[in-house]
Amino acid sequence: MHLILFGAPGVGKGTQAKLISKNFGIPQISTGDMLRAAAKSKSELGRQAKKLMSKGELVPDDLMLNLIKERIQQPDCVKGFILDGFPRTIPQAEGLSQLMQEMQQPPFICIEIQVPEDVIIERLTSRKICENCGQDYNPKVKPVPSDGKCTVCGGNIVTRHDDNRETIKNRLQIYKSQTARVKQFYKERGKFYSVDGNTTVDKVYDQITNILK
Ligand code: AMP
Repeated sequence: MHLILFGAPGVGKGTQAKLISKNFGIPQISTGDMLRAAAKSKSELGRQAKKLMSKGELVPDDLMLNLIKERIQQPDCVKGFILDGFPRTIPQAEGLSQLMQEMQQPPFICIEIQVPEDVIIERLTSRKICENCGQDYNPKVKPVPSDGKCTVCGGNIVTRHDDNRETIKNRLQIYKSQTARVKQFYKERGKFYSVDGNTTVDKVYDQITNILK
């Protein structure tokens, strides 16, 4: 199964991708997590990405396509994978299509998770993540444990550098001006679905698995 989880920052793509990954046995590929790991390792890509991410800007398409190309050729991707946070621009979507053709892989199912903007802002301003594995924590759904350690891997739980009001505003603006049009790209190629993300994690998951059946 080759799945794209699509939607604005904070709609719950990462949370759903982790559940699908666990239950369907295919990897979650989060370009945001990959870039944060690169930034931590202080690689050349990481240094470039860190500056852009802290402002909520997009990392250039050629760098992103190289990153994805390398990742989807790994052996754990042979049965499929879930893209979370990619593609974010039309050139990324086009580049990905070409890559998939070259690799003789089937087309993607693209599922959009929809959440109203005021709910997104509330979620992002109260969100914390594990700096090691990327697990999300949120006061309403999954509060930070009293010891401040991730329940999945024991890593430190922190606030993302880009989860502040100003950067969130910019990320949402970029979503509207550049990423939202990717929706049309997949609509024109069929296999595009939308689910309501303004409900519980389980209910969003049920809607997604109903589509995948
Ligand atoms: P995310 O964790 O998906 O919210 O991504 C965090 C940040 O990483 C974004 O605001 C961008 O700066 C960068 N990023 C992640 N994925 C992409 C992508 N596909 N294209 C460009 N930049 C990206």
